[in-house]
Amino acid sequence: MELDLLIQNCDVLTVEVAPEGPQVRFRPGMDIGVQGARVVAVEPTGTLRPRPATQVISGDRRLAIPGLINTHAHVPMVLFRGLAEDVTIEAWFNDYIWPLESNLTPEDVYWGALLGIAEMIEAGITCVADHYFAMDQVAQAVVESGIRANLVWAVFGHQGPEMLDRTCEFVERWQGQADGRITAWLGPHAPYTCPPDFLRLAAERARELGVGIHIHVAETREQVQRSLEQHGRTPIQLLADTQILERPTLLAHCLYPQEEDYPLLQAADTGIAHAPKTYLKLGMGTAPLARFWELDIPVGLATDGAVSSNTLDILEQLRLMALAQKDAVQDPTAMPVAQALAIAFQGSARVVHQADALGHLAPGGLADIVLLRQDGVHVTPRHDPGANLIYSARAADVDTVIVHGRVLLQEGRLLTIDKARVQAEVARRLARLAQRVPGRRIATYPA
Ligand SMILES: [Zn+2]
Repeated sequence: MELDLLIQNCDVLTVEVAPEGPQVRFRPGMDIGVQGARVVAVEPTGTLRPRPATQVISGDRRLAIPGLINTHAHVPMVLFRGLAEDVTIEAWFNDYIWPLESNLTPEDVYWGALLGIAEMIEAGITCVADHYFAMDQVAQAVVESGIRANLVWAVFGHQGPEMLDRTCEFVERWQGQADGRITAWLGPHAPYTCPPDFLRLAAERARELGVGIHIHVAETREQVQRSLEQHGRTPIQLLADTQILERPTLLAHCLYPQEEDYPLLQAADTGIAHAPKTYLKLGMGTAPLARFWELDIPVGLATDGAVSSNTLDILEQLRLMALAQKDAVQDPTAMPVAQALAIAFQGSARVVHQADALGHLAPGGLADIVLLRQDGVHVTPRHDPGANLIYSARAADVDTVIVHGRVLLQEGRLLTIDKARVQAEVARRLARLAQRVPGRRIATYPA
């Protein structure tokens, strides 16, 4: 076997999803063989032989897991981290985010994307579904950094069909680029910022392009109430009415599905991005994950933007998801370890519509792999490596990150991004970016 990359003697933690429920699988002392962009073997240590050209990485005292997937983000928003604390959702949008975003130039978006991608790679994130604008700049940062991404150019109804067409051109420019690491979809912002006719047009364009749609939906009780008052339909019914749900979809948040929405979600080729830190911070409540699980509606983990979640850290979201679910139903048996990890691995892969290739760390899958250091006192002992990963591990434990067979982080050092340069570029933009000019904002949150 002609290996390009060999990880020797690591412990491997994955989840097997069986009919009787998910099972954590922990295999100590394994070698992982990679050929090109794919995993070709996961075998007991000593079985796989390197050839002279093979890059060999020691997995000693390292835990290998499938690369973490961030199913919904606004990566360049790291530029505004900490600028909208302790405010209502309405103020968050109208008084902070949308005025701040009117300051952004494409170059700002580029440096913000690189800053956010650096943070994600350091936290073991190998794939991100990003929803923003000036997305050519984000795509360029994806090309340079080596991360995998599903990208959409966000569009609001008030920007009109011309802007929607520009986002279609983005899809055509970037689909399959960066050796196939980039997939590009359409990103109408939400049913509360895009009227039904606009959503219908977006669905039509997505059908013509043969792509999916990434959209925010049912984030708060008030949004659902307003939708019922204005349209007589829930936000999810609106997505069905406008044929959005006939496309592959990625639904951000979906905290408040109504009873009539569940069959629609079940019948759709969809997945829900779950970002618990944002929900906790903005006091939004949480999603009915147990119900989604029971109905086999895919759920994955997300960071959302750093102005609501402050970090782009999926391990943190994993922990908060499990804790928030237990707390919501006041039941310590809710969201057990294997289920939480199944959501983080396979669930997230399903939500980005790449379940065959990602989330499992097995021969045939894409070589998106994370190695975590296991020598920290906070993860000692390892009676339950799965529980350690959820409740004890830290992003700082991430040691090595491989995407598409390429090493992006080695022994904690970023290989593809010049962090000091990015931080300097960001620093000199901050004074301008932090200004909120009266009367200037990119959209309006309905109140
Ligand atoms: Zn969002």
